[in-house]
Amino acid sequence: MNPATGELLSSVASADSGEADKVIASAEQAFSKWRKTTRTERAALMRQIADRFEAEQEYLAQVDIRETGRCLGESMLLLSNCISEFRYMAAAIEAYEETLIQHNNDSFSMVVKEPLGVAVLILPWNSPGMLFSWKVAPALAAGNTVIVKPASAAPLVVMELGRICQEVLPPGVLNVIAGSGREVGNYLVGHPKTAKISFTGSTEVGRFIGKAAAENIVPCSLELGGKSANIVFPDAHMDKAIQFAAMAILSSSGQICVSGSRLFLHEQIYDEFLEKLKVKFENVTVGNPVNPETQMGPVVDKSQMNSILDYIDIGKNEGATLLCGGERLTGGEYDKGCFIAPTIFSNVENSMRIAQEEIFGPVLVVIRFSDETEVIKMANDSPYGLAAGVWTKDLQRALRVSRSLEAGLVWVNDFLTSIGPFGGYKKSGLGREIHKVALEYYSNTKNILVSTSDDIPPIF
Ligand code: NAP
Ligand code: MG
Repeated sequence: MNPATGELLSSVASADSGEADKVIASAEQAFSKWRKTTRTERAALMRQIADRFEAEQEYLAQVDIRETGRCLGESMLLLSNCISEFRYMAAAIEAYEETLIQHNNDSFSMVVKEPLGVAVLILPWNSPGMLFSWKVAPALAAGNTVIVKPASAAPLVVMELGRICQEVLPPGVLNVIAGSGREVGNYLVGHPKTAKISFTGSTEVGRFIGKAAAENIVPCSLELGGKSANIVFPDAHMDKAIQFAAMAILSSSGQICVSGSRLFLHEQIYDEFLEKLKVKFENVTVGNPVNPETQMGPVVDKSQMNSILDYIDIGKNEGATLLCGGERLTGGEYDKGCFIAPTIFSNVENSMRIAQEEIFGPVLVVIRFSDETEVIKMANDSPYGLAAGVWTKDLQRALRVSRSLEAGLVWVNDFLTSIGPFGGYKKSGLGREIHKVALEYYSNTKNILVSTSDDIPPIF
């Protein structure tokens, strides 16, 4: 469905376990040849894929904005990240060097990397194009064949990316299978031929996938939810911090795992900062992303919209102050779509549910603090540990606070940029993506220990 208009975009066949068996057989068969390709050969194919994505980028973005509701500019940016990830992993695999360990003068180990086999990659609906590349690119580069299971709410852009990959790759190397997570997703993760699972989605489903991986004894990467703290000290560049505080929660209508959803403001700047931020939120142009002037689109579907509205009620009942927004937008075109006004809750306590749970919508909670120790304690008082932001011009404080935060990614005077190793602490997940370190998560390590002497040990 198009969440901006309520119109049916497309129908997609939902696979069952019988079709999943065929896809696994296809990936397994392709693996025997694909694993023997050279790194240079794989890198060349991945660069071709990147070029093809680039040639179709505008079309892909048009698909993406219609199925997810995100704005065109954001979609083009995320697809650019997708393209560069394929080029990056092509370069990373070509430059990859294995190690040699000298044990003594007569023996050494060659530590070599080998692909795992058939990798099952399960995607969420919120950033399907970019997340496709974060999993598919390192998996292919490392020599695995893959099965991609898109989310039911946003399968189209993934199917289109899959089509392009299939036009470049040998048959069976990359497979896309749409269908219900509970049925076909569940079947794939428990399949005896599955050699690797990588999942991005909710912590709840992630826990379930982790258990299934344990049963199957296969390596499993989990990129899960977040409730990222964005901390502003009084010496920060105020206008930049305000701009990023808004971008951090309003981009993709707050449906990004790393959204800056908990804003911590120092008491000295609290009132002035919020006054300016409120003006920004009230002036956001919300609408159908096909209109170029739209700054924020709808949320992905009705169930997500209702879940966000429930959280807004929870916030009001918990006693937080609703500073702006707090409702579904109605009237005219809005009535057909899933639009929520940019929302700020102030005077929030970190123990409230709206500060502890992932809302996944354009709802910012603002918490006041008076000193560094207090804010670190509050920021870390969360089950999640995906990302955090620190705004200050004091270098020592920036580094001290960054090291104290329990999060896999800390931005200093920035937010949302995704470069370098990415993944969560605590209940935000296991494993890392984007960076070349991701290759490790799609590889097995073999130690080949070699003796170069003819000496016979004097035992037995
Ligand atoms: P979700 O409900 O957990 O679903 C994610 C994927 O898992 C979907 O493809 C889903 O299929 C599938 N699935 C559901 N149950 C399954 C099962 N029993 N076995 C196998 N697969 C199953 O998450 P979502 O609602 O799509 O996405 C939002 C969540 O993703 C948020 O919590 C967000 O924070 C998180 N996220 C994390 C990151 C990160 O990198 N850390 C990035 C983006 C999003 P169906 O769609 O058919 O149910
Ligand atoms: Mg879901």
